[in-house]
Amino acid sequence: MSTRRDFLQKIGLSAITIPFLTESEQMKEQSSNNPKYDGPVLRVAIMGLGGYGTIVAEAMKNCKSAKLTGVISGTPSKIKNWQAKYNIPEKNCYNYENFDAVKNNPDIDAIYVITPNSLHKEQVIRVAKAGKHVICEKPMAINAKEGQEMVDACKKANVKLLVGYRMHFEPKTLEIIRMRKEGELGKTLFFQGLSGFVIGDPTQWRLNAKLAGGGAMMDIGIYSINGARYMIGEEPSWVTAQETKTDPVKFKEGVDETIQFQFGFPSGAVASCLSTYNMNNLDRFFLDAENGWAEMWPSTNYGPIMGRTNKGELNYPHVTHQTVQMEEMSAIILQGKKPIVPVDGEEGLRDLKIIDAVYEAVRTGKKVMLK
Ligand code: NAD
Repeated sequence: MSTRRDFLQKIGLSAITIPFLTESEQMKEQSSNNPKYDGPVLRVAIMGLGGYGTIVAEAMKNCKSAKLTGVISGTPSKIKNWQAKYNIPEKNCYNYENFDAVKNNPDIDAIYVITPNSLHKEQVIRVAKAGKHVICEKPMAINAKEGQEMVDACKKANVKLLVGYRMHFEPKTLEIIRMRKEGELGKTLFFQGLSGFVIGDPTQWRLNAKLAGGGAMMDIGIYSINGARYMIGEEPSWVTAQETKTDPVKFKEGVDETIQFQFGFPSGAVASCLSTYNMNNLDRFFLDAENGWAEMWPSTNYGPIMGRTNKGELNYPHVTHQTVQMEEMSAIILQGKKPIVPVDGEEGLRDLKIIDAVYEAVRTGKKVMLK
């Protein structure tokens, strides 16, 4: 049976066992534990210098094995700002027209695509054709057909495709997964996932069906879909779903406001989830099993994630998700490390197949069987 220390070492977080330190104290502690890191460094260019791109860039400042070395943006003034802030040379800056030339740039190993959802497919395929590894934000694409094309293109180009599933490296999440895998909870029976917030500005791309590929389900509901799979530890075999729309002006045709959905798993376990753009405080996972239970609330925001089980509070200190994610993705890409929960294109595709099925169940009112 794994000890807590074994477990933290396995996920590359042994330094975070030091309790009661602030985040910046932990960072210092971590870097002093690794005074002279001379391992491989993943050199990353970020495509899409918006809200989340900025969070990733800031988090990467504290990475030892990943470094921001390039940018791709359609806005020259943003490129200038980022160049100054992150010390990026002119030769590593591209726009959406010329980024295929990254093919000949030895300073960039991987491109992290952080643009609106419907742009991911074409951008990821172009990056693959340029021979660079790709990290793509969730949802990987706007449907499974596009996702499959991306997986195929990356395979053909012999580059890795990873999806920005930062929760797959979060210590409390991983501890519950460990407890479930090692039988401490007994047979899993039921998962509840609540994912939602009240979305603001009605003109943003997230409320534009063409750019978002849907509504809350694509953006936030995907956390409950992905969470149901890693908490239960199985793939669903059927889906049912019901949509409610209280504001058809803000949430136009093709943009879902609220969807409740249910899954059945081969073992007999079931899940009941809610995805919404019109209710706050919904970021909660609950797992019920024969001999115990686990609750996370918040379960997927930037943290601190709070988790407890029938055995008590989970007290791992908070880590910056994106820093840990990029360290781990560097190890996956450059050293072939196997993550505990997959973050590859196939994993992104599994969620997209389920999202397709949820939308089909909403449209038809019928139970949709998954292969
Ligand atoms: P954002 O609007 O803040 O940034 C999007 C960026 O894409 C902007 O810089 C914008 O200029 C650029 N862009 C390029 N072409 C565009 C076009 N045609 N229309 C609009 N913008 C265009 O959005 P964001 O919050 O950074 O989200 C980007 C991606 O990251 C989405 O796929 C989203 O789901 C994902 N995301 C993931 C997380 C996470 O925790 N993993 C969090 C937030 C966002």
